[in-house]
Amino acid sequence: MVAIAYIGLGSNLANPVQHILSAIDDIRAMKNCSLKLTSRLYETPPIGPQDQPNYINAAVKISTSLKPYELLATLQTIENQHGRTRETGRWGARTLDLDILLYDSIISNDPTLTLPHPELHNRAFVLYPLLDLDKDLEIPTLGKLQPLIKALNETPPRIIHSSII
Ligand code: ATP
Ligand code: MG
Ligand code: MG
Repeated sequence: MVAIAYIGLGSNLANPVQHILSAIDDIRAMKNCSLKLTSRLYETPPIGPQDQPNYINAAVKISTSLKPYELLATLQTIENQHGRTRETGRWGARTLDLDILLYDSIISNDPTLTLPHPELHNRAFVLYPLLDLDKDLEIPTLGKLQPLIKALNETPPRIIHSSII
């Protein structure tokens, strides 16, 4: 069984653009996955602690035969390979964050893997990259992207790089 998943990428340490571009290459090389589309890259202000650099964010669409928890484990391995540490606390600066935004239309309230990602609709840095990938995307329980972006009522994040594929 092949599923469609959307992954959100973020980085704000140690040459974040390079981390995002090489993380996309790592996702491209993942076993049992096929990279379908990449969003543009965006520069966005931090959430949580404000005394940290701006973030670079993007999203990608993949098809995969990995089950949801296998996909999460694989993405966490890539985070670790990028030197991700968890000493900076929640929402602290990090070299790489890879979140599963959607996995097919699965809804899960498990704290280890919540789907859709629980903050998706509150984050311009997630909604705009998703819009690049599929302007008609339907988020389970939340609906389409455009109304969510309108409800958020934030200035669009700055585009710093066109899409890669
Ligand atoms: P946020 O979830 O607000 O974006 P974060 O990405 O900084 O915060 P992390 O430190 O990367 O949080 O992850 C904390 C835990 O979140 C992970 O151990 C993971 O099990 C869990 N988690 C729950 N749902 C998801 C998801 N959809 N994608 C990735 N991790 C998730
Ligand atoms: Mg995150
Ligand atoms: Mg995360």
